[in-house]
Amino acid sequence: MTNLLQSTKPVRVFVTGGAGYIGSHVTLALREAGCELCVYDNLTTGHREAVLQDELVKGDLADRKALGKAMKAFRPDAVLHFAASIEVGESVSDPLKYYRNNSVNALNLLELTRELNVDKFVFSSTAAVYGSPQQFPVTEDAILAPINPYGASKMMTERFLDDLAAADQEFKYVSLRYFNVAGADPKGRLGQDYANPTHLITRALKTALGKYPKLQIFGTDYATQDGTCIRDYIHVVDLAQAHLDALNYLMLGSDSQVLNCGYGHGFSVREVIDMAKQVTGVDFPVEEVGRRPGDPAQLIADNNKIIRLLSWHPRHDDLKTIIETAWFWEQKLALSGFKQIV
Ligand code: UDP
Repeated sequence: MTNLLQSTKPVRVFVTGGAGYIGSHVTLALREAGCELCVYDNLTTGHREAVLQDELVKGDLADRKALGKAMKAFRPDAVLHFAASIEVGESVSDPLKYYRNNSVNALNLLELTRELNVDKFVFSSTAAVYGSPQQFPVTEDAILAPINPYGASKMMTERFLDDLAAADQEFKYVSLRYFNVAGADPKGRLGQDYANPTHLITRALKTALGKYPKLQIFGTDYATQDGTCIRDYIHVVDLAQAHLDALNYLMLGSDSQVLNCGYGHGFSVREVIDMAKQVTGVDFPVEEVGRRPGDPAQLIADNNKIIRLLSWHPRHDDLKTIIETAWFWEQKLALSGFKQIV
């Protein structure tokens, strides 16, 4: 596929949530590909240090005026929308936060995107839109039946995009349905850093570092081989590449698409813990507790569509590599904090 991101005129990309975990890995890759960036982030979970200072506009998506001003000033060719609340458990206890941050704010952004005649949009969606799929691996045409407000709030935005694209022939989008994103920049420049991390690999590694006394396994009675949930863990660097491929695909004038982002195979919670112990060399304490509300037993991507349409080539499809890069980052973070990217 022709690579328009490498052309002489740099592509201008407006990135919401670009200072967050996934957003910052994508902005790093876009920068390295020669794009010009404006990162719009309220820095509630993102880090100032994760992006170049002259790329950053601190602002909230709920603030239409500030958002419009930033977009107008930057004149993007495309919008990449990462900013969102992302914790399944929290979405169950505080659903309205999720509908506001993930659905209503996306609506603000889309309205401004069209007002300013920006016609290319890449959306961070999630496998949580499938709910508890009956099909493994799950294809993009499976029924959407989210079982938590997080998935439902993202599904709403997918619907906005679909309806908008149907009504407006100019507007093209790619929704990327992420499976379980993990790992970190192999050079240790970026990684995950949340105040209260809930994701399995991060919790396991922080437990190995002694930041938590034990790791809990949420549910051992699922209908899976070892009773724990199975997820398709995808390296954040491969996911970042999927965004570059999606952007290039849109720049080539191609049609809107919804695409799974995963490797097509999964690991159980126990398998992840075993690998985390092997990589860290720490036999940290593990406690089996009840199920966490909103968790489906299995989520595995059918990734044929993204490979076929975007010629996406994953390079880090290996649980050990994922955990090793995350471990490198966790140790660096513990030692010297989040360092300004250069
Ligand atoms: N999980 C767990 N203990 C933890 C964190 C997560 O057992 O401390 C389980 C969780 O119940 C799910 C899987 O690990 O089955 C992946 O959860 P995570 O929060 O990492 O991602 P999600 O699938 O919710 O996006």
